[in-house]
This record gives sequence, C-alpha cells and structure tokens, in this order.
Amino acid sequence: MVTRDPLVDSYGRVHRDLRISVTDRCSLRCTYCMPEDGVPWLPRATMLTTEEVVRIADVAVSMGIEEVRLTGGEPLLRRDLVDVVAGITALEGPAGSPEVSMTTNAIGLAKNAAALHEAGMTRVNVSLDTLRRDVFISLAKRDRLADTLAGVHAAAEAGMVPVKINTVLMRGVNDAPEDVVALLTFALEHGYELRFIEQMPLDAQHGWDRTQMITGEEILGMLRTGYDLAAQPDEARGSAPAELFDVRPLGVGPDAGSPPLGTVGAIASVTMPFCGSCDRVRLTADGMIRNCLFATGETDLRTPMREGASDDELADLLRASIGAKLPGHGINQPDFLQPPRPMSAIGG
Ligand code: SAM
Ligand code: SF4
Repeated sequence: MVTRDPLVDSYGRVHRDLRISVTDRCSLRCTYCMPEDGVPWLPRATMLTTEEVVRIADVAVSMGIEEVRLTGGEPLLRRDLVDVVAGITALEGPAGSPEVSMTTNAIGLAKNAAALHEAGMTRVNVSLDTLRRDVFISLAKRDRLADTLAGVHAAAEAGMVPVKINTVLMRGVNDAPEDVVALLTFALEHGYELRFIEQMPLDAQHGWDRTQMITGEEILGMLRTGYDLAAQPDEARGSAPAELFDVRPLGVGPDAGSPPLGTVGAIASVTMPFCGSCDRVRLTADGMIRNCLFATGETDLRTPMREGASDDELADLLRASIGAKLPGHGINQPDFLQPPRPMSAIGG
C-alpha cells in the first residue's frame, strides 16, 4: 500500500471524498440538468477506461480519500460499472478501503443492484423528484417513473444501506405541497432517507433563475404542512451538506418523547452554502480534476496519464488542483460565472 500526504487545501480543508463521473450520457433529460435534445457528448476516445478510472482512484486513495461516489450522467449506462466498483473497492489507503456509493436515476438498477452490491457498493442515492407519472414526464422528458421506482426498491432489497432519495423541486413543475409531503411519506414508509437539494445554476441551458428557485426554507414550510420537523444538532452534520430534521406525525410536537418516524434533509447549497467544510474533489469522465462543482478551471490528468506520467506525477497534479481551490462557490456574488460544463458532464 502506498501512502501519501493528505489532500489539504490552503484553507485547511482535508479532502476525503472523491466523486467520479463515469459517463456524461444519460437516460433522462431532467430540465434542471439537460435540454430535451441532450448535449454534445464527450468523444468516446476521451473517456477514461476502467483501468484509468481505478488508477486515478488509487492515487487519490493513497492521499486519504475515504469515500468514492460514482455519478454522471447516468452511471448505470456504463457497461463496466461492476468492474469499476470492484476495482475501487479493492484499493487500500491510509484510511483502509474506500466506501463506494453511487448517485443514480436508478433506471436499470433493478437488473444489477445485486451485482453492484456484491462488487462492494454499499449505498446509493437515487434521484426522484416526483411520484406522479405525468409530472415525471414533464420534468424528465421520459416515461420512466416505474423503472426508477423498481430500481430504488431493488437497491434496498440488494442490501444497500442507506438508500437516500435526492429531490430537486422546480417551481410550477413538481412543487405542489401535497406531492412534496407524499414524497416524504413514501420515503418514511420504505425507510429511505429523503433530501431536498436547492436547484443550482448548472443546467446546460443556463436557464437557472434565482427568483424562481425554491429555497430550503420554502421546502421545510411545505413539509411542515404534513409533519412536525425538529432540527438535529449541527454537530451531527460534520462535512455533510444536509441539514437534518427528525420527522414526527403532525400534532405530536417536535419535542415529544416519541421516537421520530425518520429524518429528512435539506441541502441549501445556494441560500446556506457549506463550502467552509467541503471535503470533495471531482473527476470527470474525460479525466479532468475539478476542485469544485463551480470551478471554471480543471486539471487534466488524462493526457499526462496517457503520455506515461507516474503515479507520483499524477498525485502532484491532484495536489496542485486542491491547492488552488477557492474558499467558496461564489453563486451569491455579482461576478459569479456559471461553469462551461453542465452538471451532467461534471458529476453531481
Ligand atoms: N444521473 C444521476 C442522477 O440523476 O442521480 C447522477 C448524476 S446527477 C447530475 C446527480 C445529482 O445532481 C442528481 O441528484 C440531480 O438531481 C442533481 N442535479 C442535477 N442538476 C442539478 C441542478 N441544476 N441543481 C441541483 N441539483 C442538480
Ligand atoms: Fe440525467 Fe441525472 Fe441529469 Fe437527470 S439529473 S438528466 S438523471 S444526469
């Protein structure tokens, strides 16, 4: 096992979480992410192979990365996904083997949840924005709600714990309070952890509009029409972006001695940024390191790797990228510029 110094940036943030986008292709067209016609896909030849992904993960794990999250695009579209998972789970660094999870729309997960779990994937985050078929079609432009639901349940049956559900609300599309409460009821009934994410300016169409964004505060207000919520102490949060709430039946009172039905989270990336505790770094499907979702620059690892760079040289490039990380995303500053890559090509 090779051990290198940890990935610490100039603000003292230690990086332990690597997000790997394994493809920029997707089976859905969620409006807040991609236009209905898709976007120009990355050329196949630029996409990292299984071995290349695992090699970069190995270098990162030697520098203290403890958690690897596979994302995209839709990671399930990658045919070698099980091999990628097995390759990364087998790595060892100073913190042991990394925990491998995935963010997915779950289309097709019913077929291979068991194989992914067997290969070492322990947890999944499934994106599900509505339980209504008509709303799903208008938001994601494909009639695939049933596939997503089958995928979520298959993940739980395969033994993935926890199964988290990520929801983005869009004004006038999937923001009816009764539908938002229904999502929480669904999650509580099945033991899934629901988290709402504020919509961020990362859509390929550059259509994000702050005045239309549904804030974390507003979402909590909708949920409180159906349940009592009590904020968990901040210490429970650590570097996790979600503010967590215990959920109890309406009228019981948030401080009642009864155990909560479950928890719900709000990730208010825009209105309450959590950049000060960020421990994430991202690798795109074409081998670029991004030190922030909103970075306007990237560090190319693919070209040096294909030209014969050693692991130490790749580690130096990764360290330099983290060293140049800015203190925050700057969405709320007047000179904010949306990055050229859309969310689907960065990896959420
Ligand atoms: N296709 C997979 C999925 O949807 O889970 C993985 C990739 S997707 C880009 C990762 C996450 O980013 C999803 O939970 C999605 O809802 C979220 N996302 C995409 N565009 C977003 C935006 N503009 N603002 C906030 N979250 C966004
Ligand atoms: Fe695809 Fe995920 Fe983007 Fe939706 S959010 S279009 S599922 S990459």
